[in-house]
Amino acid sequence: MGDELEYDPQRVWEACLSLIRPSVNPQAFHTWFQPIRPKKLDGTTLVVQVPNRFFHDYLEQHYRTVLRGAISEVLGSDASLLYEVVSAQPESVPPQARPSPPPENGIDAESQLSLRFTFDNFVEGSNNQFARAAALAVAQSPGQTAFNPLVIYGGVGLGKTHLLQAIGNHIRSQGNGHRVLYVSSERFTLDFITAIQNNRATEFSARYRSVDVLLLDDIQFFANKERTQEEFFHTFNTLYHKGKQIVLTSDRPPGDLKGVEERLISRFKSGLVTDIQPPDYETRLAILTKKAEENGIDLDPAIYDFIATHITSNIRELEGSLIRLLAYSSLTGQDITLRMAKEVLRDIVRPRHRRLSIELIQNIVAEHFGLPDDLLRARTRKQEVAHARQVAMYVAKKLTNASLKTIGLHFGGRDHTTVVHAVQTIEAALQNDESLRRDIEDIERKIDIATL
Ligand code: ADP
Ligand code: MG
Repeated sequence: MGDELEYDPQRVWEACLSLIRPSVNPQAFHTWFQPIRPKKLDGTTLVVQVPNRFFHDYLEQHYRTVLRGAISEVLGSDASLLYEVVSAQPESVPPQARPSPPPENGIDAESQLSLRFTFDNFVEGSNNQFARAAALAVAQSPGQTAFNPLVIYGGVGLGKTHLLQAIGNHIRSQGNGHRVLYVSSERFTLDFITAIQNNRATEFSARYRSVDVLLLDDIQFFANKERTQEEFFHTFNTLYHKGKQIVLTSDRPPGDLKGVEERLISRFKSGLVTDIQPPDYETRLAILTKKAEENGIDLDPAIYDFIATHITSNIRELEGSLIRLLAYSSLTGQDITLRMAKEVLRDIVRPRHRRLSIELIQNIVAEHFGLPDDLLRARTRKQEVAHARQVAMYVAKKLTNASLKTIGLHFGGRDHTTVVHAVQTIEAALQNDESLRRDIEDIERKIDIATL
């Protein structure tokens, strides 16, 4: 490491980037690393600026190791990284220097809980109301309710892990010394195998059997792992008989777990089993606005509506779409608009190509302009019709996978060069024609609705 390097944050950062670049995919590099700005170097602490909270969290969750590795390669093993978040919101508030979270991703070493999952930031909806109430009851009186074990089951990305960890964080925040341990079933299994290999099975058992609250995530992972099930069976019984709280999550109801011993299943069913369903529209909207608010961003309500309407199954995807928008906006320096949202999220909103035919586009465009739809397929050159036809060709090109030739054929057997011309004309006009832009947005919305 050269001496000048030591004092120049820009050069230090460039050196880091050159180490990072080969180890992440180009798209990710572009999206997540290019927008980072080195600000200053404080001894061996590099201070970098990121566009917003989401960005910070995303980097910490996905690229922590890569980042830390590169920094210590360049600045030595005692080097550290400090983030400065430029929040999108109040301009008057200076960017805050925020130290990177405590060890391992804001995960508490003793309990293995991730501090960011709380009841406060869990949005209640009709889909999760009961599960949330049960979780809260358990959090308030661990081991003292009839909900032991509490089993929460439901599909991917619906908030099971969030609730499970919220229980643990709540209990710890009460400060009455309860020992809480969060563990995924996968981790439990791996640790158990390692323990056996190293003749430490007794220590393993002792560790899990000495807690006051055991939070075990994704028990479906135990399927067909007989020795792990055996071990867990004894752990369960020990804790249960001592009146300790056990909370489990699963991707399906306990009765549907295949490859899990009957005696375990009957224990899982012996307390309270509750599910989380996919969120309804109102809950999706509430979650989105909450996430945005937490991160100091404030978008056009139409954008939340768009996302909440199209991303229906999974809360993780709801969050992901917000992150993508933010990343895109900070990369291009553009404000987030509905138009951008549609563009950026095109591939994750429900695919509509299957049901979307060129005929349907023609019908919707014709209707939008108050024309009979067969006119778009006719040979007429009337100005009004020609414009609608160009719009329809443009939309067909944009929203379907049809070739220019196919599109031409659908419009009264026109040549593909006519389609190219139409697409170019509309694209050029869109640059400064607000009313055309609105027309096309309207048309796309109508198509969205028609293909739901
Ligand atoms: P699961 O464990 O069911 O697959 P997670 O608990 O990991 O799902 O949830 C996925 C993401 O969605 C997490 O970031 C979580 O914080 C968020 N999330 C899920 N449900 C809610 C909710 N009701 N309110 C706020 N955020 C939620
Ligand atoms: Mg989970």
